[in-house]
Amino acid sequence: MTLIDGKQTAADIRLELKREVDSMLRQGMRPPHLAVVIVGHNPASETYVENKLKACREVGFLADKVALEADITEQQLLQTVERLNRDDEIDGFIVQLPLPDHISESRITQAIDWHKDVDGLHPHNVGLTALGQPSLVSATPKGIRELLSRYHIPTEGRHVVVVGRSNIVGKPMAMLLMQKPYLSLPKMSAAALGDATVTLCHSKTRNLKDICLTADILIVAVGQPALITADMVREGTVVIDVGINRIEDAVAPRGYRLVGDVDFKEVAPKCSYITPVPGGVGPMTIVSLLQNTLQARLNK
Ligand code: NDP
Repeated sequence: MTLIDGKQTAADIRLELKREVDSMLRQGMRPPHLAVVIVGHNPASETYVENKLKACREVGFLADKVALEADITEQQLLQTVERLNRDDEIDGFIVQLPLPDHISESRITQAIDWHKDVDGLHPHNVGLTALGQPSLVSATPKGIRELLSRYHIPTEGRHVVVVGRSNIVGKPMAMLLMQKPYLSLPKMSAAALGDATVTLCHSKTRNLKDICLTADILIVAVGQPALITADMVREGTVVIDVGINRIEDAVAPRGYRLVGDVDFKEVAPKCSYITPVPGGVGPMTIVSLLQNTLQARLNK
C-alpha cells in the first residue's frame, strides 16, 4: 500500500508556482493577484481565508482580504463583486462560503466574472468542464486529479466510483474523470486524465457496498466518519478520502481530531494507494486555488 502524501505534493507544487512567479517577475510581469471576500466572523471560514492568503503570499502572489460584516445586504455584496470584476489589477477572487442566510450564494457566485472565478463555481466554468473544455475547475476535484497524475495512477478504462454528488466535489470530479482528455497534452499530465467509466453515488443509491466493490478507484466525499468500511473495498483499490470530520478525542490537544469518510485503519491494508486524513486531499485544495489564480493571470 502506498500512502498518497498530499502535504508533500502540495509543497512541491507551491515550489513550482514560486519558480513561475520568479520567472514572471524577471520578465517584468506583475505576479498573480487574488482577492478573498469574507462575510461575517465564522471561525472556520476565517481560518480557511487566512490559510489561503498565507499560501498566496508564500508563493509570491499578491493577496487581499476584503472583510465585510455579517449584516451586509446582498446588494452591497453584489457591489463588492462588481468592483472586483472591474478591477484590472485583480486576476481572480473568491467569496468564501457559506454566506449568511439572507444572501443567495448562487446569486453571488453567478455575479462573479467567470474569467476571475478561481473557485470554478460559476455556471460558465461548470459548463466548460462538462463540455470537456479548458476551464477554471473546482479546487478539490482539480487537486485530486493532480494527485492521481503525480502518483502515475491512470484512469483510462478504469471504473471510478465517486460517493457524494455535491456541486463542489462529487459532480465536477465525475465530470473530469469521464471526459475525453485533451489530446494535445502529455498522457499523464493532470488535465489529460480521463476516459474513466464513472459511477456517481449519493444518499439514495441502493447497494452502495456492491458498487464500491466494483471500483478500481473509489473517491469518497460525503462527510460521515467511517462510512466506507473494509468489506466495501476490494484488494488493490485506489481510495481517495475527501471527507473532513471532527470527532471528539479527549486526549487530543484541541479535544477533537480529524478523520475522513473511510475507516482508514481497516481499509488501508487492502488498498494499492490511499490518501490519509489529514494530509491527503486537504492540502491540495488550496494549492489548486493558487494554480487557478495563476491560470486566470496567464489567460489575460
Ligand atoms: P455535501 O454535504 O454537499 O454532500 C455530501 C454528499 O454525500 C451528498 O451528495 C449526499 O447525498 C451524499 N451522502 C450523504 N450520506 C450518504 C450516504 N450514506 N451514502 C452515500 N452518499 C451519501 O458535502 P461536500 O461535498 O461539500 O463535502 C463532503 C465532505 O468532504 C465533507 O466532509 C467536507 O468537509 C469534505 N470536504 C473536504 C475538502 C478538502 O479540501 N479535503 C473540500 C470540500 C469538502 P445527497 O445528495 O443525496 O444528499
